[in-house]
Amino acid sequence: MTLTETNLIKQNEQFVTEILQQDPAYFHKLVKGQSPEYFVLACSDSRVSPSVTANMPLGNMFVHRNVANQVVEGDHSFSAGLYYALKHLKVKKILIEGHTQCGGIQAACEMKQEQSNLQKDDGFHLWVSEIQQNVPSKHQCDELTSFELSKLNVLNQIENLKKHPVYIKYGSNVDIIGFVFDLSSGKLQKVT
Ligand SMILES: [Zn+2]
Repeated sequence: MTLTETNLIKQNEQFVTEILQQDPAYFHKLVKGQSPEYFVLACSDSRVSPSVTANMPLGNMFVHRNVANQVVEGDHSFSAGLYYALKHLKVKKILIEGHTQCGGIQAACEMKQEQSNLQKDDGFHLWVSEIQQNVPSKHQCDELTSFELSKLNVLNQIENLKKHPVYIKYGSNVDIIGFVFDLSSGKLQKVT
C-alpha cells in the first residue's frame, strides 16, 4: 500500500466516524436510494468540488464534471448523466458551475493562435477545441478578467444546454442556473 492510499483510507475512516457521530443512521438512509434536487455540471478542477463549495450533504447533487464544464452534444457521458437526472431522478434544477482561474479556459485562450496544436489527437487538444468555441478572440481573452471569461463560458454552456436534445425532450421545464465559483474568496456568484 502506498502512502497515498494509506492517507485516503485514513481520511475515509475519519469521514465515516464524523458522519456517524452526527447521525448513526446516515448510511442506512443512503442505501435506500437517491432523490437529488440538482443536476450539476462543473469543471474537473480539484479546487471546485460542487458539493463541498455548496456545503451540500451527500444525496443532494447529481454531478457531471469535465474540463471547463462544457456541454458538448456528442459527449455521451454528459448526455447519459443529463438523461438520467431528468428522466429518472426528476431533478428540480440544473446548475452550471464555472470557476475563476480555469485552466481549460486559459488553454483555449492560449491556443487561439496555435491552430496546429488542435490537430493533435490526444483528447486534451480536441477537448480544448470544443472550449474554444465558447471563449472570445485572443484579444478579448487578454482584455477580460478571469471571472468575466468564466461567466461568459457558463452563459454559453447554458445556451448550448437549451439546444441539447435530451434537455429539449426531458427538461425544458427545468430551470438552468449559472454560477461562478471565485477561488480568491471561496464564494459562489450567480451569473444568470
Ligand atoms: Zn476549470
